[in-house]
Amino acid sequence: MNRDTYISNEDWKKIKDFAEDKETPFLIINLDIVKKKYEELTANFPYAKIHYAVKANPATEVLTLLRDLGSNFDVASVYELRKLLSLGVEPHRISYGNTIKKASDVREHYEAGVRLFVTDSEADLRNIAKAAPGSKVFVRILTEGVETADWPLSRKFGCQADMAGDLIILAKKLGLEPYGISFHVGSQQRDIATWDAAISKARYLFSWLKEEENINLKMINMGGGFPANYTSRTNEISVYAEEITRYLIEDFGTDHPEIILEPGRSLLGDSGVIVSEVVLISRKSRTALNRWIFTDIGKFNGLIETLEESIKFPIFTERKGETEECIIAGPTCDSQDIMYEDFKYDLPLSLSIGDRLYWFSTGAYTTSYSSIEFNGFPPLKTYYIKDIE
Ligand SMILES: *Cc1c(COP(=O)(O)O)cnc(C)c1O
Repeated sequence: MNRDTYISNEDWKKIKDFAEDKETPFLIINLDIVKKKYEELTANFPYAKIHYAVKANPATEVLTLLRDLGSNFDVASVYELRKLLSLGVEPHRISYGNTIKKASDVREHYEAGVRLFVTDSEADLRNIAKAAPGSKVFVRILTEGVETADWPLSRKFGCQADMAGDLIILAKKLGLEPYGISFHVGSQQRDIATWDAAISKARYLFSWLKEEENINLKMINMGGGFPANYTSRTNEISVYAEEITRYLIEDFGTDHPEIILEPGRSLLGDSGVIVSEVVLISRKSRTALNRWIFTDIGKFNGLIETLEESIKFPIFTERKGETEECIIAGPTCDSQDIMYEDFKYDLPLSLSIGDRLYWFSTGAYTTSYSSIEFNGFPPLKTYYIKDIE
């Protein structure tokens, strides 16, 4: 791992200076990077509508920035909805993208003015028809790509394509507006071809429903899945865009349906650096080869995505010299609170108790996953900065 592939020397110095007198652990989010990522995405997908997946980082600073940049939003609960409304986001910019919802959740969205709902089951669809009459619905289909996504979102969401077709037909019967098809190929999806297979399924559904039922679907929601910069290499967003646009045109022509994207990780991930401190270093036996490095950040105060070592964050220290493979664990009294044991990070032998560790690309799915008070540890403290500060 080479630090300058993640951050310029200048930015690295800025982060260190900013962090110097602050008590760890904390996260620093550079909002200018979020802005840059948003602009990069819209430049690469000029034809797409962006619905930011609020769950990746629901901070007011992030939501207002994206609101002012013109983004739309995808919410998963009434709590996210209320927060957006309180920030002045208009309901026509909000989609309800959770397939699991109570009738009262649907009603609250409808009464707030939201008219775009996902579904993947008959019971949920009937709920929507009752609580949000006449709304636009899109049906989420299952996709492949579990093996190549670092944080898969399969199985729990979506249904087989044939069932999706049945639901679209039922939606029309129930007086809803059958609007489109959605999918999510898995978060941090490294295999771009997974979008090809998913778009082909959508193509099949568009044709079937047009020919047999005279239903004209209008939209494809291609979800998230675009990468942040972790330890394993991924393609640039421009390569994703080029390939995905080609798949779309191959299947639908240049006059393709409306496209929605729901990025979370790719907008926020690279904007964040978690600063932590080494609390303890130990070996488990006289002859143990690996040191255990315990830090004041762990699975329960921000790093839950290290579950099964799924997401491998780039970790840096200011120490130099000879390195050794280590096991890295968090500070709580829970034996699950080990971030990396199978995958061994090389850290300098000179690393000592009290030294700082810098966890790069930690802007997404960290604060929102942090526990409230496990072992008394508070939620992850966050500082929002801009380049000029
Ligand atoms: C989590 C989620 C996203 C965001 O996915 P990323 O891979 O973080 O971009 C988008 N859409 C839905 C429906 C989601 O559940």
